[in-house]
Amino acid sequence: MSGCGCNTVNGVGAGGGPFSKGKELVEFVYNAHDGAVRDQPISAGPLEVICQGCDTSFALVTYVGICPHCGGVHAVAPMNPTVDNVQFAGKSFVLP
Ligand SMILES: [Zn+2]
Repeated sequence: MSGCGCNTVNGVGAGGGPFSKGKELVEFVYNAHDGAVRDQPISAGPLEVICQGCDTSFALVTYVGICPHCGGVHAVAPMNPTVDNVQFAGKSFVLP
């Protein structure tokens, strides 16, 4: 497990966690470390993901990223940034 060096496992935010799915995970990563994580480049390098909103591939460069085609918000947990773990917040979700 290549963590981000912190114990985010022990509850940041309300109910969300690094193993949440969908919108919960997106909100968790977005709020992690008071927002210091979301704009950081993914440690393993950009992930080539298929947007779960419009099926277009794009590069997820930071832990929270937005599909350039439809604006769909995606995120991946810093401790396990793989394509399989990328979560999609849903079509109606917009970042605060
Ligand atoms: Zn999209």
